Amino acid sequence: MKILVPVKRVTDPNIKIRVKADGSGVDLTSVKMAINPFCEIAVEEAIRLREAGKAREVVVVSIGPTAAQDTLRAALAMGADRAILIEAETGVEPLGVAKALKRIAEAENPDIIIVGKQAVDDDCNQTGQMLAALLGWPQATFASKVELGEGVATVKREIDGGLETLELKLPIVVTTDLRLNTPRYASLPNIMKAKKKPIDVRKAADFPELADLRLEVLKTIEPPGRAAGIKVNSIAELVQKLRSEARVI
Ligand code: AMP
Repeated sequence: MKILVPVKRVTDPNIKIRVKADGSGVDLTSVKMAINPFCEIAVEEAIRLREAGKAREVVVVSIGPTAAQDTLRAALAMGADRAILIEAETGVEPLGVAKALKRIAEAENPDIIIVGKQAVDDDCNQTGQMLAALLGWPQATFASKVELGEGVATVKREIDGGLETLELKLPIVVTTDLRLNTPRYASLPNIMKAKKKPIDVRKAADFPELADLRLEVLKTIEPPGRAAGIKVNSIAELVQKLRSEARVI
């Protein structure tokens, strides 16, 4: 069984980002980049399935600038077997990404594609769903548990107010939720080993679907700053404010 994991290079979620002065987007100059946290969870899950003897190979794929090789190396250091990079220096959108991933999937023939539920840069939460639709494969989004059987997968997914369990016939697309697992740290020997693992670099020109951009960003603004807090003199006053001003009780 083969598992394909698309991973996206995003701004490191631990740093504070700045909006460009002209509001045209986020200023990425000298900003630390990292693997998208939900993709990291996807890589971890794929590696665990391989370690449990359920899968033979984990292939990671990224669509992004040349520097996305670092993102792929991070996934390889966690334990993925090989990587594919579609080099795209300009911006990409979920539909184009899903179409390009469909072509990679058709060539690689994976049994499962594990996708992050969303990329934390644009919070689209679209790619996995679109990819499943384009492939005509069953999908289980927001997974918090994945079990593989003979030709089927049982996936627990997080829904409003509870959990839903689905049984799906392979091949499938799964998107990861936060509680699926806790990703491992790559050990130094594995970081060294990852440097020798292959990255197959493809040109964006071979994936014209990526250039079909349909979204226009009109404006990017910072969220409003948090209002200053106040001190209350008694519990009674606190309860009264929570009830009449904050309206939370
Ligand atoms: P999104 O729909 O943009 O929120 O992204 C959801 C998931 O799709 C991510 O967690 C990745 O697994 C995958 N994905 C999105 N964009 C890319 C990309 N440029 N390269 C590889 N995978 C991507």
